[in-house]
Amino acid sequence: MDPTQLALLALLVGVVIGGGVAALIVVSVRTRDRMRAQTSTALPEGVADVLRAMDDAAIVVDMSTTIRAASAAASGFGLQVGEILGEERLRELVRTVRTGGSVADLLTLRRVGAPAEQRQVSARAAVISPRLTLVILRDITERERVEQMRRDFVANTSHELKTPVGAITLLAEAIESAADDPAQVRAFAVRMSAEAARLAGLTSRVMNLSRLQSADESTQVREVPIDEVITSVIEAHALPANAAGVTLVRGGTRGLFVLGDPQILSEALGNLVANAIAYSPAGSHVGIGVKQIHNAVEIAVTDRGIGISEEEQQRVFERFYRSDQARSRRTGGTGLGLSIVKHAVQRHGGEVRVWSRPGRGSTFTIQLPLIDEPQAFRAPAKARKKKSKKSVPADARDNGATA
Ligand code: ADP
Repeated sequence: MDPTQLALLALLVGVVIGGGVAALIVVSVRTRDRMRAQTSTALPEGVADVLRAMDDAAIVVDMSTTIRAASAAASGFGLQVGEILGEERLRELVRTVRTGGSVADLLTLRRVGAPAEQRQVSARAAVISPRLTLVILRDITERERVEQMRRDFVANTSHELKTPVGAITLLAEAIESAADDPAQVRAFAVRMSAEAARLAGLTSRVMNLSRLQSADESTQVREVPIDEVITSVIEAHALPANAAGVTLVRGGTRGLFVLGDPQILSEALGNLVANAIAYSPAGSHVGIGVKQIHNAVEIAVTDRGIGISEEEQQRVFERFYRSDQARSRRTGGTGLGLSIVKHAVQRHGGEVRVWSRPGRGSTFTIQLPLIDEPQAFRAPAKARKKKSKKSVPADARDNGATA
């Protein structure tokens, strides 16, 4: 072997040995990394940033279900870094996801702080490293509530619409079979138009309510003089009050303003006045009083009617709730009036309350945020105030209001 061949052989041996050593180093580094990853509880890169950006409650737990990292919202469920996951259902979810089982669960969790309450939560888990599991908790309480309301609304509405539709069908059949008897035909026709009117009333109330409930509905918001709302309601109810032998009495502070949709406000107050008339005996008075309480306008509708029992007071604002079905049908009630009031008032940032004693009467009170008297109303409002002070004392009967 000449010296050149010897040199080449030495080079080859060197390359083989060098390559082998390098390969050994790479393999051992990889093995070490793999071992480290398997025993490490350090968060994989980027997970902390994701947790910081999340609105939902989310936690990363290790094999002992100790919380290693958490999003801000997690503390709302009492989930703190360093603590062991307390909820058995969540621990079970972590175990099953790590053994290739289900990745989601629906459960109820208690929210800490004020108000401490049970929330419905959808939990999802994902394995993010050999020792770490990510659990995301989405609070679905509100979504479920809205969905339940929608289901109830559809079910109740179809049920309520069936009654007058059924009555109209029966009356139409009765008219057909009494065709030779003009007196009977006339009597059935009168009842038929009463049912049709009831159906029309119900349909328009259902539409109003669903309009008020749809959050994105744009309303005609402007500065509204409460005096105008009350005048329009009293005018609209003068006839029914008269027919029922009930006197409408207006009183309280004048010249107060709110921000809102005058039509919606008039309908809400009108529903309270209509109820007060419907559930009051002939010869009684229904009061509509206004006062300012701090930054709010309070409108109270008071009657001396049949009243509402305490347990029913909790329920009268529910859709389609009527304390006495037979009596409400006689008064033409739909059970939607107070529900409309509630939604209309809530839409204006206010609230509605009821005080009542069976046999003594009821007071429904609407509170709305007060605004300053708008510039455009200033001069005429002052003139109005002066005039009203002279002719109408604060709690005296309003001529226009008396039906
Ligand atoms: P309705 O159209 O049946 O009057 P509402 O939603 O307006 O429906 O009222 C629900 C129920 O609350 C009524 O059926 C009635 O039993 C009760 N209610 C409402 N207002 C009064 C009142 N001023 N006095 C007595 N009961 C009332």
